[in-house]
Amino acid sequence: MIELNFLLIISLFITGLLGLFSVLSFLNQSPKEKPPFLKEKYVWYCSICTYTYFTTKDKIISTCPRCLSFNKKIIDSK
Ligand SMILES: [Zn+2]
Repeated sequence: MIELNFLLIISLFITGLLGLFSVLSFLNQSPKEKPPFLKEKYVWYCSICTYTYFTTKDKIISTCPRCLSFNKKIIDSK
């Protein structure tokens, strides 16, 4: 017969709870919206030094933080 002591029961219970929570959190995952700074209009590519940077300001022209050159946003008309 398998001998069950108090610590074994508690550890099995905690392990079961952790497994249940991890399965539930995995099942709860839904395709989330991208964070605002990852939206395409905030991602800039410097045409001079090819540096990729983010700015949350909704502007047509921004300044590259690396080479300080001005970049114009190319808006796709899809
Ligand atoms: Zn640059």
